[in-house]
This record gives sequence, C-alpha cells and structure tokens, in this order.
Amino acid sequence: STHIRETQINTTCAYCGVGCGLTVNKQSKYCVKADNTLVEAQHTLPSLAGDVNHPANSGKLCVKGSHLLDTNSLEGRLLAPTIKGEQATWQEAIGYVVNAIKSVVNEHGPQAIAFYLSGQLLTEDYYVANKLMKGFIGSANVDTNSRLCMSSAVAAYKRAFGADAVPCCYEDLSNSDLIVLIGSNAAWTHPVLYQQMQAAKAARPNMKMVLIDPRVTATNSDCDLHLAIKAGSDAWLFNGLLNFLHANQLLDVDFIRRHTEHFEACIAKASSATIEHVAQMCEVDEKSLKTFYQFFADASRAISFYSMGINQSSSGVDKANSIINCHLASGKIGKVGSGPFSITGQPNAMGGREVGGLANMLAAHMDIENETHRDIVERFWQAPRLVTQSGLKAVDMFEAMEQGKIKFIWIMGTNPVVSMPNRGAIERALRKCEHVVVSEVVDKNDTLPFAHVALPATPWSEKNGTVTNSERCISRQRALLPPAGQAKHDWQAICEVAKHLGLAQAFNFKHPSEIFSEHAKLSGFENNGSRAFNIAGLSDLDERAYDALQPIQWPVFDKHSSGTQRLFTDAKFFTASGKAQFVAIQPRQPEQPCSKAYPYVLNSGRMRDQWHTMTRTGKAAKLLQHTQQAYVYMHPLDAKTLGVQHGDFIALRSKQSHQSPCILPVSIDNKQPIGAFFCPIHWSKSNSSHVKIAALFSSAKDPLSGQPELKHAAVSAKAV
Ligand code: SF4
Repeated sequence: STHIRETQINTTCAYCGVGCGLTVNKQSKYCVKADNTLVEAQHTLPSLAGDVNHPANSGKLCVKGSHLLDTNSLEGRLLAPTIKGEQATWQEAIGYVVNAIKSVVNEHGPQAIAFYLSGQLLTEDYYVANKLMKGFIGSANVDTNSRLCMSSAVAAYKRAFGADAVPCCYEDLSNSDLIVLIGSNAAWTHPVLYQQMQAAKAARPNMKMVLIDPRVTATNSDCDLHLAIKAGSDAWLFNGLLNFLHANQLLDVDFIRRHTEHFEACIAKASSATIEHVAQMCEVDEKSLKTFYQFFADASRAISFYSMGINQSSSGVDKANSIINCHLASGKIGKVGSGPFSITGQPNAMGGREVGGLANMLAAHMDIENETHRDIVERFWQAPRLVTQSGLKAVDMFEAMEQGKIKFIWIMGTNPVVSMPNRGAIERALRKCEHVVVSEVVDKNDTLPFAHVALPATPWSEKNGTVTNSERCISRQRALLPPAGQAKHDWQAICEVAKHLGLAQAFNFKHPSEIFSEHAKLSGFENNGSRAFNIAGLSDLDERAYDALQPIQWPVFDKHSSGTQRLFTDAKFFTASGKAQFVAIQPRQPEQPCSKAYPYVLNSGRMRDQWHTMTRTGKAAKLLQHTQQAYVYMHPLDAKTLGVQHGDFIALRSKQSHQSPCILPVSIDNKQPIGAFFCPIHWSKSNSSHVKIAALFSSAKDPLSGQPELKHAAVSAKAV
C-alpha cells in the first residue's frame, strides 16, 4: 500500500537579487515495505506561491518566480560526468581534475589556475571554492559573473564608505519622498520591488518617481519625470545635481562637516557642471533637469535606485560615486527612506562578495591587499599558501587564457561564451586552455562544447544553503528534491577535489551548515568593528538551527540579534577616520565612441520574462509567450533610414565582430532613442537562434572594478 504526505517547504527564488521567499508544496508518496517500514517512492511539486512571511516579498512573486516549477524537469539535464564528451564516473572525473591541477601547478605555478564562478551559486559553494584557491592552491584567480553585474557598485561603496556596505533596505522604498531609478528597468528586472514602489505611490501620491534612462521603458509608466539622457552621461547629470545643491545653498552643511571628508575637492570638480553644460552633455532640456534637481532638493527623503545601467560601464565606479556624493552632500543617507541603493541582478551576487568571490577580495569582506586581513585569514584557515596579491578579474582572466597564461579553468554555474563581452575572444581563450572543467546543470549550452570535463551540478530545486539579496538579507534556499542522477552540489565537488589534493582536514565538510558556520565565525574573528561584514551571531547554528534559519539582514553581531535593517544610522563609516569620503568625479564618455563606420549605439539588457542565457527560463513555455525571440529594437526614423520594416533582418557589426555579424529581425519601437538600438542578452546559439549579442561588445571595462561595458557598443547596421 502507499501513503501520501504533503509538506510545505520555504525557500528562495533562484532568479533576481530581490530574493523573494517561496512556499512550495511537496507531495511524497511512500510505499510500505515487507518489514512495515516506509520508503519514499516518488515526489511531486504540485504548486508554488510567494512566502507571505518573507520580508523581501510578503507573498508577492513576479512571472519568472511564479513559473519556477515549470523549469524543473529532467529534460536537458546533465546527469553524469563526462570526460572529453564520453560518460565517466565521478571518481574518474575528480581524478582528471586533480591531476590537471597538480600538473599545471607543478609546471606553471598556481597563477595558471583559475575558477570562474556565478551569482547563482550558494554562499557555501562560493566559500569553499574561494578557500581552496586563495588559501590552499595559492592563486587569487577566482572571479565570478557578478563581475558583470555588481562590481562597480562594490568598488564605489568601498571608496565612499570604506566597505562594500549597502546602506538601505526594502522598507525604505515604501517610506521615501522621491525614488530616482537610474539605469534600471525595475518594472521588468526587479518586479516585486517595483510593485512596492507603485503601492507606495498609490498610498502617497505626492511621492515622486523619476526615471533616468535613454529608453522609455515599462518603468516609466509610474514616473513623474523621465530624463532620457544620452547613453553613458550619468556622471555629468549627478555632478550637475551636486553643483545645483551647492550653488543654491541646499547642502546639509552640518552632515558634510561632521561626517564626511574631501567635499571641497569634489565640488571643485563638479563646479563646471552647470545646468547649461549638463543639458548639453546629457542631451536633455534644461527645464527637465531643473525639475529633477528641485525634486531631489525638496525631498526630505530620497532613494537612488540603480542597477546595470550604472554598473555596466567603463566608468561605472565613478558614476556610482557621483550618485553617492549627492546623498552625502544632502545628508540623505542612514535615515528611513533615504540612501544610494544598488540592486543586484542575481540571487546571490551579494553572498559571493561576502565570502570573497571576487579576485581582489579575501573571505568575509577582507582585502587581499591588506596585510592585517591576510594575516587574519591565514591564521583562521591555517592556510599554507595564502595569496598575497589580487588575481585576475573576469575580462583579464579570459585574456590571460588566450595568451596561454591560464592553463586550467573551472567554470561553475555560468555560461561565459554567451554572457561575457567579445565572444570571439572568449571562444579563442577556451580553445587555447589546456583543461576546461565545467560544472553545469544542463547538458547543452554554448560553453559546454569547450569542456574537457563536465560535472553534473544540482539546480535550484535540489540545492541547500543560503543566499543574500540586495538588502543584505540572508535567506535559506532549501532542497525540495534529492539530487537527480549523479548530480552533486558544487561545494561537494570542490571538497572532493580538495581531499584528493591532500587537503582533507581543511575541507572535511559534511553538510552546508558546517560551511556556513565556519564562514560566520571568520566574519567575527578578530573583528573589532572595523569590518562591516559580521555574522558572528550565526556561528553556532547546528544542522537543525541552520535548517530553521529565518531571513535575517547582516550584520548580526550576536546570537540574540535580529539583524540590522539599515546601515550608517549613526553616521559612522568603515573608513580609517570613520567619515564618509566624497570622491571627485571627472565624467568620461564610453570607451567605444560612435564613428562614421559604426554610427549606432547598441544597448543590451533583459526582457521581462527571461533570465540570463535562458538555460532555465527557456524551459517554461509560458515565459516564452511574452517575447519569443531576439529582436533589435529601433526607432521608426532609424528603420526608415535603414530601409527596414518590422520583421526584416538586419546585420549588426562592431569593430571586433566585423567579420561575423549578428543577424536579427527588427522590431520598430518608438520608445528607443534615435540612433540607438536595444538587444536582449538571452538568446544564443544553443537556444535556437544563433544570435551572438555579446560578441558585438568590446572588452572595454572599468579600470577600478573591471566591470565590462555591456551597455554601450558602437555598431553598424545593414539590411540583409
Ligand atoms: Fe524571483 Fe526576482 Fe521575481 Fe522575486 S522579483 S519572484 S526574486 S525573479
């Protein structure tokens, strides 16, 4: 006979940085064995809803999150390891990886090894990968696709506050007088937060919303003002705001004097940003500019909500600091409803930062370049080969690979052939690399053909661990199902490799709770308050307490703490002086200017219902209904000039893809600026279309953060 049991599991959405809580109903069928014991025979996941108790979403979900269960089939799953395309055992695959690491380290040194990780990994996966490389192999070449997402915001926070510390929380969005959305189409990319803003505006119609974006997007529908600035001109706009506040004596002089440094140098640089000059540089009218500046001055509480339009730029760090400068100058920070608020793209872009998943960081927000931090981590890990200098950031890592300097790469949970700029260079790099290991959930994507070894990984529904969302909230992702086929969790695969490298003692983790506990302990280890990231209060969670962990915002100093909703309420910052730093900004144009040969600007981004390279959302038929294929969106006047109509195909070329154009159908869209196109990032070779958008973007990147310029390429267009 059979028994059916229904359970409810609370977990976290696998997509964007809002980090919504989900409640999933699970039905388990048990058979009674001859000895009268029960054995679980089958499980189904009949339904999913928003978790009404989760602080990020209070039960709300967007269309992507609502259809997560539609993406969960075993069709297209990588269920067993392969070596050079042939099925292999885990033992053989681990043997290959271990031998490859040993021989490369022996012959070329640890700097020839690299890991390329993902904001889709859980914090525990990230932690062990980082520990293995930076403490035991001795290479800091650990970077992640979060480099493409948030690294400019991180670098700007560190310059201004002395730490990668996001000041705000979601509740602030409901309690502000002005929300400025900069380079963010939140209505599509962070829909649950956008709904929160809409609700706040409906409740308090005097609350203002301003959109700053070259395009008219869905986000514009609720905004009081749209500044369609010229692509890349954000820093002029915010230097102009700072200058306006200064010129009109609207500064918070007391806050500047008591809690900040370097205002004079900053305002000296911004003083040329007059209304007339900004209007000219941003290509917007002076009246709209003044209206925006006056909105900001009049609002006693203001949030600057920014995302990829700021970060994915060759001057992304400066742009983010130009925004932060305005908040410091007006004292709009560390208060309810106020602050600069960068929103992460991925579910765990922030968790990766916390454990040091970026090439310039150690674990627990400590810096490789800081001798004291190195000493702390070295002693805590008892690390024999702690790195002494920063490793290669994503773009540089693949460039070094193309030059033959990186001989081994382990790619986990990401598809760089589609997502990195300059696809041709990425393909050449992977072809040149002697050992490419790819941990993947799917059996087909554009990166897997380059893998010498493919390792089957667990997807969202089988993973067990934690993620941190955009408001510093740590949430549990709980496994709904056991691992399918021979899939292993990423942390397990890394620990297996470590053990076979002779590092069993340091990697003897049996459960993610043990990894989390070590990570939490390190965050509090010799932390006298100078380090922002501290979750020492979560150090002693046993397996049961870890499983029951409720969403909590860091820092969490002790075990009685309920977390920290908002930072800098005491106006004390993590810099040496304890004061926030103004950063003087000299605005710069995008690196690839338009020319006679390449006269159009190309912008890239997400569609409402798709995610990244579509390896998951592509499985949900309903999500394809919104947009079924990639188009190049262009203004009717550009279409007329080019002699194309809706649905006609057009070839886009840029300098680095001149021989290999990207051919797409045209969608005529009067919401595009004249002379600028928009293409979605999702479609690629392995999801049917042969579209290679990222190939059109150059390897231009921010000099401080290394974040590539994925919002601005110069292209030519020709009807085909
Ligand atoms: Fe998931 Fe983001 Fe949608 Fe929330 S808003 S359901 S986290 S995709």
